[in-house]
Amino acid sequence: MRHQLITLALVAAPLAAQAPKHAATYPAPPAAAMAAIRESDLKRDLYTLAGDAMRGREAGSLDELRASMWIADQLRAIGVKPAGENGTYFQWWNMKRTRIATGASAVHVGTAALALWKDVAPAANAETEVAAPTVFAGDGSDSTIDVRGKVAVVTMTAPSQAVKVEGTYSYEYRYAAAAVASTAGRLRGRGAAAVIVVADSIADAGFDAFAMLRARGMYDVEGGAYRFAPQPPGAGRGGRGGTAGGAAPSVVLLARRSLLGTLRADGQAGDIRLHLEQFDSPSVNIIGVVRGTDAKLRDEYVLYSSHQDHDGVRYPIAGDSIWNGADDNGSVSVALLAAARAFVKAPAKRSVLFVYHGAEERGLLGSRYHAAHPVVPLSQIVAVLNGDMIGRNSPDSASLMGIQPPHLNSSELVAMALAANDKTGKFHLDSLWDRPTHPEMWYYRSDHVPYARLGVPAIEYSSNLHPDYHTPRDEPSRIDYGKLTRMTQWMYLTGWYVANVPKRPALEPGFKLER
Ligand SMILES: [Zn+2]
Repeated sequence: MRHQLITLALVAAPLAAQAPKHAATYPAPPAAAMAAIRESDLKRDLYTLAGDAMRGREAGSLDELRASMWIADQLRAIGVKPAGENGTYFQWWNMKRTRIATGASAVHVGTAALALWKDVAPAANAETEVAAPTVFAGDGSDSTIDVRGKVAVVTMTAPSQAVKVEGTYSYEYRYAAAAVASTAGRLRGRGAAAVIVVADSIADAGFDAFAMLRARGMYDVEGGAYRFAPQPPGAGRGGRGGTAGGAAPSVVLLARRSLLGTLRADGQAGDIRLHLEQFDSPSVNIIGVVRGTDAKLRDEYVLYSSHQDHDGVRYPIAGDSIWNGADDNGSVSVALLAAARAFVKAPAKRSVLFVYHGAEERGLLGSRYHAAHPVVPLSQIVAVLNGDMIGRNSPDSASLMGIQPPHLNSSELVAMALAANDKTGKFHLDSLWDRPTHPEMWYYRSDHVPYARLGVPAIEYSSNLHPDYHTPRDEPSRIDYGKLTRMTQWMYLTGWYVANVPKRPALEPGFKLER
């Protein structure tokens, strides 16, 4: 925390200086509209949407659909009109899922049949057929041991990169994932047909988490807009194959620590057969509109964006297995309901769309789908105001993604957001998170990206990472409701400015994302 504070002081000054310059040029909303944003509403709604009864709203599950129905009901009750398909609030689309078909896959070493996800867990989703003798290669550091064409069994070594104690999922899970990669990496370029990494005590504690996440497989959406720039065929992302020191082993399995005795004998018949299955599961975007009042401008739209999904019910941490996602992204989902109350109270000149994207946690799937299949022409969407996690961390700091090159795609939009900040939350803005060098790649981790990539002026509001991120501890009781209210006012006022200025915000000349 300390480091960040120093940075804040340094960074905040120049940005704050800009804000007063703009304030005068934007029309203020009626007081009754701003007053429609109430902390009590935000709290009531968040305890519902992110309460245990919503079971973490996992994408592609009935829980996501139930949460989506609840949100649509709230929009209807507030007076927001449906803008989805066939006069409904919903835009349906399919997630394409690819995972290892447990029933059709098997792993044997010698006479032992190793149960998938219980004894062993493949590190990747790949069709695999390996039949080869095993060789015990110790901790993998002795390159004189010949593993060519064999199933190499190695004991785990601690990850090469230090693993932060606090963070996404559990420490044990992140340790296991990092240690599997770095231990298997020791056999890079040595031609093993497959590698079985036997867990140490820490990774063994993270085995269930590792197995559960790998068993879920991959998610994608057909015909969706891009999150990252498409790669020319053959270009590697994440460095598998073709990097210095030869190819990394392509078939890697994590094995329970207790199996070392069973696995370490040389020359056993290793037989690894992993087959993939692909299927669709439905997800949904929820879309409502408050029509504008100006005959000309009402055919232009300001788009507010959130995602209704989170991580669902997973392995227990400290006895709690519901990943509530109160901050991520219940906070913005209820903020949009509050902003909707304000716009219904006093509609703006332009129309305002409220879009809840499904399956954001699975790779921005809902926003990739809507950006490619917008309910109104993309050219008529004048700005995307996305939010992700706006209810935590110090009460006076926040971040705005898209505030500086190369992520800045509209200075005019940013100027309105800064002016609105000056009138509402007066947050110190930490621009580190928006930098292309930020280790978390924070700009690329939410739903504004597909729209920005397609040339729509777009920004994201966030109060950034915290130790409860993607854990069962992200509960409504840990939200700072005073801050959430001010962040909501900030988002609302920015949208009010954009929806009423005579000229729509221009796209930055030469705008191009770096990845
Ligand atoms: Zn999120």
